[in-house]
Parts: sequence; structure tokens; C-alpha cells
Amino acid sequence: MKKALVIAPNWIGDALMAQPLFSLMKARHPRLQIDALAPKWVAPVLARMPEIHQVFPSELAHGKLQLSARLMFAQQLKNEGYDAAYVLPNSLKSALIPFLAGIPLRVGYRGEARFGLLNIRHANPPRDHRPPMIEHYARLALKPGGRLPEELREPHLRIDPARMAKTAERFGIPPQTRLIAFCPGAEFGPAKRWPAAHFAVLAQMLKRSFPYAQMITLGSPKDAEIAAEIVKDAPFVRNLCGQTSLDDAVDLLAMSEAAVCNDSGLMHVTAALNRPQVAVFGSSDPRHTPPLSQAASIMWLQLECSPCFKRECPLGHLRCLKDIEPEMVFVELRKLLHRA
Ligand code: SF4
Repeated sequence: MKKALVIAPNWIGDALMAQPLFSLMKARHPRLQIDALAPKWVAPVLARMPEIHQVFPSELAHGKLQLSARLMFAQQLKNEGYDAAYVLPNSLKSALIPFLAGIPLRVGYRGEARFGLLNIRHANPPRDHRPPMIEHYARLALKPGGRLPEELREPHLRIDPARMAKTAERFGIPPQTRLIAFCPGAEFGPAKRWPAAHFAVLAQMLKRSFPYAQMITLGSPKDAEIAAEIVKDAPFVRNLCGQTSLDDAVDLLAMSEAAVCNDSGLMHVTAALNRPQVAVFGSSDPRHTPPLSQAASIMWLQLECSPCFKRECPLGHLRCLKDIEPEMVFVELRKLLHRA
């Protein structure tokens, strides 16, 4: 196999958890060129993966068929001469482009009845026995039922010091500033978001112990409101949510001394940059989607009701997150900062 196309997942975190698949594909076919078709909000992280040759960013919206746009993409890709396509999302529509582009080998999970669209279909794992996501994706490199290697390579993103310096300058961050980043958002829903009030108390504790540190919040425009709540009680925190591109956020995380993240795309980005972080888990399961880095410390209470995988707390109390006291995160973060 010489050339493969990956249809990338729609979430930043999933795209990063798929990176060990790309490493495994390269290990099995050293001269393989891997290109990726990715939503434009995910494309920047794929462009920083050493295994990926080129990324085609798409405007295709999550959950919409957009048949004519898919036909156009298929036409464009027809002449690229791909030997295989790896379809990572489970939807029927995500398998359309490789089929319409005439790519001979089309690999993916069975997903939404994709008979005909895919010709190598892996069995979907049962919902109550979900393997870690990196294993789930990495299995696509093997024949169905094949055995994964003992260890998979952790995700890792390229950084560019010159770009980082420019990003810091653009945001008025002097060189040598010791940044601590808070990533208070989680696109999935409130049951994954540590309370803003807890972030604010943590910020106050950090200010007392590490007065030299500049704290910033990072996230999308949707997270700006949560970040504003933090800043209301901790006005020395700089709210950059909604002001950075994803590439800027990657640069700022790469230069941060440590971060505190919810289970979100930026948590996986921080892990792929191997920066120290405390990763706070609520309704989700760190055994399934952990931050893949030795530098990460996980806070998860594993209550009886947890993980429920819900967007909002079905019990109405959100104890899985509220009971993670700022003091607990502070103690972990202090360990990481002292180690750094
Ligand atoms: S049910 Fe439990 S795990 Fe789910 S959101 Fe509520 S407190 Fe968290």
C-alpha cells in the first residue's frame, strides 16, 4: 500500500486518539503516504502530526448529509490514486466520499449499516465493553480480529518555536512568562465541566503560592462565558477563550508550565504536547478516553453513578465534578509545578 486517505473524526480529542493508528499504519507500511480529510476545526491538529502528509480541510457540517459537497470532494480525490481509505466516524455519510471517489479498499467499523460503502468492516465493540479509544481506532490498521501490539505510540504534536514566539508576542505575553492554562470548556456538555467557581478558587490558591505565574483561560467562543465567570472572582486571570485560533491555543499550551483541563479536545492537545496537566473527569471515563501522557494527572471520583456518559447530570447534583474540591486539584498541580 502506497497512499491512504483517512476520514478524520469530528472531534479534536478523537482525532488525537486516532494518531496511534496512523503510527501503526506507518510502522506496517513505512513508505505509506497518509492524507486526511478533516473538518476545518479539527484540521490544525492533524496538520501537526508527523505521520500525516497533507490535510484537506472540509466545511462539511457535523450531522448533515450535504450530498453535493461530498460529491465534489469525491471528484477532487478521484485523481489522487489512493489505495485505501480509513473511515473513522461511524456514520453512513462519512463513508460516502471514499466510495464515490472509487478508492478500492475502504476500512471502518460497521457503524450505521455501511454495507457496500465499506469493504473491510470491523465489528463494533459492545457499549458496555468499550476499549480505550486509542485501541478502538488502532485496530483498523489490522485485519478484523487482529492482535494489537503491546504498546501503542502516544499522540504527539509538532511544535514550531518561531511560531510560538510570534503567537506570544501577538497576545502581549513577554518571553519567559510562566503560564498556567485553564481549559474550562467541554463541547460535549455541562456534565464534563468542572464548575467555574472551583476554577476561580483554584486560581486564588495558585496566585498565593506562585505569584509569578500568569494564568490564562483557553477555549472556543462558546467557553468565553464560563471563563468570564472565573475572571469575575479571579480578575488577574486573562480570558483568552474565543480569542485564539486552535493553532494559537496549541502554541500557548506548548509554552505553559502546566494546565488544568476538563475531558475535552484541549486536554488531549495538552497531553500530545506532553505538558503537565491535571485532567478533571466528570460524567465520562478516563479508562476510555484518558489524556495520553505520562505528564498528566487524572482527577476522577468514580462515584457509583459514574461514568454515566450524559451531557447533563441526570441526577441533578453533578457531584462527580462539584465534589472535586479546588484544594484537591491545587495539591496535584503543585506537585506537577514543583516537578517542572
Ligand atoms: S449521574 Fe453521576 S456521573 Fe453522571 S453527571 Fe451526575 S454525578 Fe456525574
